[in-house]
Amino acid sequence: MASHGRNSLPEHLRETDRAAGFELAADFERFSQMNDVFTRAFWDARVKSKDTDAFFASYRMEAAPRRGDGFTQKDFALRNAAWLISDIVSERSAAEGLREGFQGAIRDDTPVAPEKAELGTPEAEAAEIKAIAKLFGADLVGITHRDDRWHYRDRPDTRTMEPVANDLPDGLSHVIVMGHAMDADLVETYPSALAGAATGREYSHEAAIVMQLAAYIRNLGYDAVASMNDTALVVPYAIKAGLGEYGRNQMVLTPEFGPRVRFSKIFTDLPLAVDGPRALGLKEYCAGCDVCAVACPVKALPFGSPDFGEEVTQGSPSTLRGVRKWSSNAEACFGYWAKLKSDCAICMRVCPFTAPRKGWSGRVWYGLATGRGGARGRAIARAWAARRARPRVKPKEWWGRIRG
Ligand code: SF4
Ligand code: SF4
Repeated sequence: MASHGRNSLPEHLRETDRAAGFELAADFERFSQMNDVFTRAFWDARVKSKDTDAFFASYRMEAAPRRGDGFTQKDFALRNAAWLISDIVSERSAAEGLREGFQGAIRDDTPVAPEKAELGTPEAEAAEIKAIAKLFGADLVGITHRDDRWHYRDRPDTRTMEPVANDLPDGLSHVIVMGHAMDADLVETYPSALAGAATGREYSHEAAIVMQLAAYIRNLGYDAVASMNDTALVVPYAIKAGLGEYGRNQMVLTPEFGPRVRFSKIFTDLPLAVDGPRALGLKEYCAGCDVCAVACPVKALPFGSPDFGEEVTQGSPSTLRGVRKWSSNAEACFGYWAKLKSDCAICMRVCPFTAPRKGWSGRVWYGLATGRGGARGRAIARAWAARRARPRVKPKEWWGRIRG
């Protein structure tokens, strides 16, 4: 696999680093997926506990705990059903130590056609591939160059939890990045097992969409590898593909859905025109907002400016080294998930960009928040957001709503 030292970085990547505002230090190193906090929960005694074991077990119904509003049998049932398609894909190569879509790329289901289809210009092909991604169900699509700095330097063999090569064929020069919007009403019920259905639903959607789009490209006679959380960090790719900007809550903030979106990707050699990073005014809003950091129950998010991981990470191996950004305390965050027996996304729910924007007032607020009116406009938008912030929706209220 090709890798780029800082000095050998191709000019097109340097240029998009500048446009995206990426700042890498001399001690930057590619992230080992062994150090991902979810992976560490299987081999590292500093993370693994009875709570983390019970967290993973709760995704099987016979092990699901039942207590309180949002954590009843129905809540866990909906969450676990939402994950089903993703689970089927991720478990089909378990006997070979591969958790497809999470700890290893999704395996090809379609051979590459021996004849290459006739293509239009890279611009026309990019427009067409975006339309087809949306036909299959993607909500956002952008295209960028492959950049091995963001690829995991290894991945775990899930049988032994030992590191093995994280191989991706050379020649896959482009990355199609797709965004999948989470259900706004379910997100309003975080934290709860019910809200976890919003996460599971998108993983199941994205599994289908990446596999279908990869199959389409392979039928055209070009290579394509479908990928969800595996193989590479998707956040820098989503930013480079122009889909959003990085937020204090560790998520990509998009103009359309704020942070209420999950991302998948396809590595391909299909010749496509690329998108560039966009200045959207979202991270400037973040710089003067700390709503997510205040709301985090375990204070896992930073309050200060982007740094090299000094503020809250406590030297954690789960922090990407050598990139100036907002970094979280991954152990504290996942420890809270483990206690809940479900994913927490309070920091997504409370973000003012998460709620769907409605009518003229939503448009005016977004304009002010993203820079129309300068610093004063942003200050007005922050004060306005504080006044219109909505409390968490109780899960039983959500169930009442769907009953009509
Ligand atoms: S809550 Fe505020 S600081 Fe946190 S991600 Fe959203 S805009 Fe940024
Ligand atoms: S997911 Fe929950 S625990 Fe983790 S950083 Fe966000 S609010 Fe904090």
